[in-house]
Amino acid sequence: MIKIERAEEPEILKTKGKQARKALCTSYEQGKTEFSKEDFNDNIYAHPSVKKALFSMQNGKCCFCEIKTKQPQHPDKGDVEHFRPKNGYQQDKDDDLHKPGYYWLAYKWTNLLWSCATCNRSYKKNLFPLQNPTARAKNHSDDITSEIPLLINPCEQNPKDYIKFNRSFIYALDDNPYGKATIELLSLNREDLEEARRAKLKTFKQQLVLIKAAATYTDDYDLQKASREAQQMIQEMALPQAEYSAMIKAALSKTLQ
Ligand SMILES: [Zn+2]
Repeated sequence: MIKIERAEEPEILKTKGKQARKALCTSYEQGKTEFSKEDFNDNIYAHPSVKKALFSMQNGKCCFCEIKTKQPQHPDKGDVEHFRPKNGYQQDKDDDLHKPGYYWLAYKWTNLLWSCATCNRSYKKNLFPLQNPTARAKNHSDDITSEIPLLINPCEQNPKDYIKFNRSFIYALDDNPYGKATIELLSLNREDLEEARRAKLKTFKQQLVLIKAAATYTDDYDLQKASREAQQMIQEMALPQAEYSAMIKAALSKTLQ
């Protein structure tokens, strides 16, 4: 996970999104207390312009696991993820699904992120644990700023303040509750993901070996050339566009110590 800078709000959310929110709030005030998938218009919150804005804001990567997703128009693409779930919420996996969810935030730009289908559909789902469950906002009149979410919001917090790396393994700094809950909820050390990070780290370390060797054999022309390429590669691996850049940056800062 890396820090994400929120981009400009797409126009459709300001217009149609605002109207749709108003309609949902009116329904709630008229006694509707449960909203399901059909009550939300994915032509608004998942409009191509919204997907495009999220995809580009996140450099085409999942906001949680940092894998590259396919382009928004691809059938096997990523998902528009509601940070606060719109349909209903669960405090933990064993909890019942409570309704309504955060229906009034379904079209709220600051509640939307781009995630891979695995993180969204297999792990995050309707989970939204709070440190203070009694302060949970239950409807559009409640104040969400009273909530202390356990899940790290990469647009509002810097994940590196909570999540650290031991090689390719992710852990919570000083066992902090936010890092712990985020890692567990999204299963950020799931086998395939950790394996992919391990492979990336191996490539990174191979570049370091090359650079180190070039520093010893300074008259070896081929080695110097390979070292320059390796340095370039490492720089690219640490860019926000690159997969697992948080891990590479952590590994890089360790080598500089
Ligand atoms: Zn993901």
